[in-house]
Amino acid sequence: MYFGRSLSKERSRINLKTFLEKLAMKIMMIASEMTPYAKAGGLGDVVSSLSKKLAEIGHDVRVVIPYYGSIERKEFWVEHKDLLMIRLGEERCEYCRIWEGKHEGVVLYLLEQDNYFGGKKIYEGDVGGKNRDGERFVVLSRGGLDLCYQLGWIPDMIHCHDWMTGLVPVYLKTMDKEKELGRVGSVLTLHNMEYQGVFGEELIDFSGLRGVLSNEGMEGVNMLRVGIENADKLTTVSEQYAREITEVGMGCGLEEVLKKRGKDLVGIVNGVDVDVWDPLTDLYLPENYGVWDMKGKEVCKSYLQHYYCLEEDRVAPLFGVIARMYWQKGLDIFVKVVSLLIEKEGAQVVVLGEGDRVLEEQFLKLGKEHKGRMGVRIGYNEELSHVVESGIDYFVMPSRFEPCGLTQLYSMIYGAVPIVREVGGLKDTVVDYRIEGGTGFLFKELNEEVLYETLRKACEIYKKDPVFYGKLRENGMKRDFSWEEPAKKYEMVYKKVVDFKRNYT
Ligand code: ADP
Repeated sequence: MYFGRSLSKERSRINLKTFLEKLAMKIMMIASEMTPYAKAGGLGDVVSSLSKKLAEIGHDVRVVIPYYGSIERKEFWVEHKDLLMIRLGEERCEYCRIWEGKHEGVVLYLLEQDNYFGGKKIYEGDVGGKNRDGERFVVLSRGGLDLCYQLGWIPDMIHCHDWMTGLVPVYLKTMDKEKELGRVGSVLTLHNMEYQGVFGEELIDFSGLRGVLSNEGMEGVNMLRVGIENADKLTTVSEQYAREITEVGMGCGLEEVLKKRGKDLVGIVNGVDVDVWDPLTDLYLPENYGVWDMKGKEVCKSYLQHYYCLEEDRVAPLFGVIARMYWQKGLDIFVKVVSLLIEKEGAQVVVLGEGDRVLEEQFLKLGKEHKGRMGVRIGYNEELSHVVESGIDYFVMPSRFEPCGLTQLYSMIYGAVPIVREVGGLKDTVVDYRIEGGTGFLFKELNEEVLYETLRKACEIYKKDPVFYGKLRENGMKRDFSWEEPAKKYEMVYKKVVDFKRNYT
């Protein structure tokens, strides 16, 4: 009797295991960024944390990124015996070294090819009138696919990201059509429509796709556009952005192309890697804290004031900015109201960012003018970004457009109330203070008057109604921004593609 029960238990355990294994998918991500190895913005965080979550659920997830000169070698990375031959059409091929490692349950492959990736920059941009980024990311895209053949590992799904890997779906439908990868589904995630990877005719030859890419009645190639046209499914990083990008002006010229793919386009709000972004455990912070014990946040505020050489003013609301300093982020409008915010409302401001030279200079100048009340650090500093989130009272993000935005999510988790423009993912993730359960401040028009009025209101609430301010902060800190739900949505998208491929190709 006893034996029988344990045997049947064992049998059902095995059945469950086989059942789960059947559900598990083999997923290959091909991307230009992955935190912590290579990050220029939110894309790196998403690739890293989404793949980690999918692996945790039980999928076999592998990621391919370039081995940039800026990536430090880890002793546990193993070099593959064979070089990888990347076939770029009939006549051209490139060779690269493959390094393999594991990152939080995810198998990571790094393509080492110094000619393309030996430099320190992820995106080189224009150098001496020549932009090689197109070629560099064609090598990554084709390399990611050829690696699958070399490994003898054919995934169920290939997930690519932004224009850098826009040719992947095209390769799958052409060069790989009659091969094993020809039946593999592809998902392209649109992290930012502003960057499209537009290159001249020579890139068509380089990619080996002449005859495929040159029939659009246009010269050269728009890598994002062909990715959108050819991927099996498209996702973008918030529901609101998914709606916006089909509207005139917001899809950066690709509105019609996106409209045609409307039924295949899904908005999924990004999650946060809560193992990395949690004030209770964050090792970068001078003191940890959580929603039930906020004493540590006061320590973080004093530390930040000290770090930025600000007066240790306990009653001043401390505003913070962490951003790539580009037109998208609307900081040129913030620059115009900073002085008033400091002088009239008694606020303090800290800034961390880099990008547009003019904007950097304007912020530095303001920092000098408001010594003790405003501090500016130009540059990229991962550790400091955590410290800033922990020490500020308000986080400012007046974006012109924002596909999702991660920094406002980090700020809510760290108890810094976000002040954001009502666009894209900011609209999806921040609840306005005038609504029950509010977590921040939303405003519609992007101009000096509206932004200043919103910041002024925030100061007023901070000073005159600390209980209400505390409630906003608490509401944000209690929200679940983990990958739990978004990962399930990605799974559903993958599953639809895999089922379709199995049944109809
Ligand atoms: P975007 O992808 O448009 O840059 P997101 O808000 O989605 O905007 O993500 C930005 C990411 O880059 C966040 O992780 C943020 O903390 C980080 N970041 C941006 N600028 C800096 C900086 N100067 N130093 C450190 N981290 C930064």
